Amino acid sequence: MTCRYAARMEKTPRSFIREILRVTESPEIISFAGGLPNPALIRVEEIATAARSVFESGGAAALQYATTEGYLPLREFIADRYRQRLGLEVGPEEILITSGSQQALDLIGKVVLDPGDAVAIERPGYLGAIQALSLYEPHFSPVPLEEDGPDLAALERVLEERDVRLFYGVPNSQNPTGITWSQEKREGVASLLEGTDTLFVEDDAYGELRFAGRPLPPVKTYLPDSTILTGSFSKIAAPGLRVGWICADPAVLERLVVAKQASDLHTSTLDQRILARYLLDTDLDAHVREICRVYGRHSALMAALIDDLFPDGVVRTDPDGGMFLWVTLPPDLSSMTLFERALAERVAILPGLPFYVDGGGERTVRLNFSNADEERITEGMHRLARAIGV
Ligand code: PMP
Repeated sequence: MTCRYAARMEKTPRSFIREILRVTESPEIISFAGGLPNPALIRVEEIATAARSVFESGGAAALQYATTEGYLPLREFIADRYRQRLGLEVGPEEILITSGSQQALDLIGKVVLDPGDAVAIERPGYLGAIQALSLYEPHFSPVPLEEDGPDLAALERVLEERDVRLFYGVPNSQNPTGITWSQEKREGVASLLEGTDTLFVEDDAYGELRFAGRPLPPVKTYLPDSTILTGSFSKIAAPGLRVGWICADPAVLERLVVAKQASDLHTSTLDQRILARYLLDTDLDAHVREICRVYGRHSALMAALIDDLFPDGVVRTDPDGGMFLWVTLPPDLSSMTLFERALAERVAILPGLPFYVDGGGERTVRLNFSNADEERITEGMHRLARAIGV
């Protein structure tokens, strides 16, 4: 039998990252290609204690079907944290728990996009969003990312040219560049979208991982009704639990709940309850401070090694949070060539090409600094310098 696939599958790229990770899994390779949190910063014992407590008190409920919206104490925790951290006044009725924030992107695509609808996205943009939204066959309109956020004039042109259904962006420590939008850009985007029927999808996977500077208000502060804000426990607790969320107006959430029901009924009850128990018992602020300390050190180390070891003409971003640094290579070196040469030196990098919806980015590279320890970062960057040919 030959299986006939839906046309939309033709338009959806396989995850380039997954393909690359397969090549880089062997232990002798130092990988800066993936996007994994540091394993030493996952509180295995505390999460195991939370799991035991969940099984001992009401284990059957934790193993039972549950509501699509998600476990109420967890939604209350998220709403409380928004209030405390960012002064964002939201209630649990505005929170939908999702299976990772990746599922949030799929659900948003499902409820708002018809084939051919325009989606504005940062250039370069998060590959996982490009992949998730591609399944709904949109027309992508890239908006160049400047040092402090999206090019507002370009966004304005895109909004004039097309009836843009949504604008997707990662204002805090963006994946792949590590760039954080300035206050001016946040307000600028909000004022361009104000009064239009373009939704803003504000992906805040990295907001808590800010190791320099003060936290900036989410765009949702300036554009409360038409911003869909997504968040995740992957980077501050554990990605394997697959718990994220959507924070949006209850009317939008109602549609998203229907889509989620159709997709998986609800996020794992057990995972939600273990996570809620863990979060209520642990000092999450102290844990986040620890993660930020470590990632801040890693980022500074990687940046210093680039400056010391790499040739002139290499340009890098200067992240103030998150897990990635973005490098632009000199004109005569493509990132695919460097990828091959780096692999021969047993170090893996991620060429930036798949982050561009309209091609380009041939000389860009994403480097992850969260996963490896400082010794391996130092060794890996020396290997990479050899691969570049210095
Ligand atoms: N958004 C961004 C910007 C990400 O980098 C990631 C993970 N790499 C996700 C969403 C998805 O993360 P999760 O599904 O684990 O919440």
